[in-house]
Amino acid sequence: MSGGSPPAAGLAAGAADPCVHCGFCLPTCASYRVLGTEMDSPRGRIHMLKAIEAGELSLDATVASHFDSCLGCFACVSACPSGVRYDQLIEEARPRLNAAELRSPWQQSLRRLLLALLPYPQRLRALLQPMRLYSGSGLQRLVRGRGLMRLFGPELTALEALLPPLAAEGFQDSWPVVAPAEGPRRHRVGLVLGCVQRSFDPAVNRAVLAVLNANGIEVVIPPQQGCCGAVSHHQGAMEQTRSLAGDLVAAFDAVLGPGRPAGPEPLDAVLVAASGCGHTLKSYDRLIGRSFAAPVADVHEFLDRVGLSAAFRQRLRPLAAPDGAPATAEAPRAVAYHDACHMIHGQGLQAEPRRLLSAIPHLQLREAVEAGVCCGSAGIYNLVQPREAEELGRLKAADLRGTGAELIASANIGCTLQLRRHLEPSEGAMVRHPMELLALSAGLLPA
Ligand code: SF4
Ligand code: SF4
Repeated sequence: MSGGSPPAAGLAAGAADPCVHCGFCLPTCASYRVLGTEMDSPRGRIHMLKAIEAGELSLDATVASHFDSCLGCFACVSACPSGVRYDQLIEEARPRLNAAELRSPWQQSLRRLLLALLPYPQRLRALLQPMRLYSGSGLQRLVRGRGLMRLFGPELTALEALLPPLAAEGFQDSWPVVAPAEGPRRHRVGLVLGCVQRSFDPAVNRAVLAVLNANGIEVVIPPQQGCCGAVSHHQGAMEQTRSLAGDLVAAFDAVLGPGRPAGPEPLDAVLVAASGCGHTLKSYDRLIGRSFAAPVADVHEFLDRVGLSAAFRQRLRPLAAPDGAPATAEAPRAVAYHDACHMIHGQGLQAEPRRLLSAIPHLQLREAVEAGVCCGSAGIYNLVQPREAEELGRLKAADLRGTGAELIASANIGCTLQLRRHLEPSEGAMVRHPMELLALSAGLLPA
């Protein structure tokens, strides 16, 4: 593992220098939490990066495995008092980890397959279509109940366990190019649908659109939009990421302008309701040297900034309990907001979604003890590192369950699938997107 290799030029690029090895980042690190070894902590990885750069350590399969165990959650960046940008370090390191000799043929094939499917909604849907008969069926209950997937290994077990019920709506993109505001128009925005979100939880985008329109916000939805590149970005597949990012910017350009379907009026922002996507979308200038004509914002960030309209606030009603009884001041509806890593650590957004949820009458926010620790989803981490992800998912589910909340608000599709997997099946419906809760409260979605 040590010595012999040429210096890994650019791997750390001096960004590791501020690290004083204090270890303040260790308690927040999800991989250190479950693996417990220094090499699987931020401090250990920074040490390895420095050693690689100095030519004292080879980037071999063992060393690479300690970088693969990193979730890219960036909790260490938030925790570091010295301002070490571990996010930049791991982003630089990841493309090098994709070298063929650093992973087993099975791991390489699995990653290649996932990157060839997940960012392409049409391919994903073609694969999922036959799975519709299976998801939610008695056969699936039998397979899960008997643990039959364990015969196929931990990765495929995780894949099956994360598969949600597949709604027909997730197999089509029947969105208007321009969805007009209700009442006087306050703003005009674009909406990125997300590739995984639109297939696996299509109700979220429906809720986002309804909430935005009801707040006097016109929404432009380019029909040819694909993936933003977040999945491949997270894996260090930079060529694919740049290609997807360029295509998405072009999809917006294709509908905006004189004589085009959405017309020439500029957008105030380009919004997204999946925080993993938002983090990558906000990096376009750095990744591809250009971006949209309007700034990117998470939907919570934008709505919090412009404020819910008076008309929308008047529509808000207490959320009903499962038995249909509305929440009251004496018996409020308890909701735990789950902080997605790419929202809290990646974009610095923590108060915004909580403020929006607090607009719902008789909603009581509860806080998880370890709100800043990753749930184990982390892009495709829970498929390629299933053991670590399973442990983190169990810890997160226990933490959220410990709040006593009846509902969990999750603003990232990956986290939502991970949380639904690790909460008891009967608790699965507890996890909803904050925009769904706002839409339900405003009577914009059926209860
Ligand atoms: S990354 Fe920051 S918090 Fe972690 S050991 Fe280095 S200086 Fe300390
Ligand atoms: S990104 Fe997350 S998992 Fe990776 S070193 Fe930082 S805290 Fe640990």
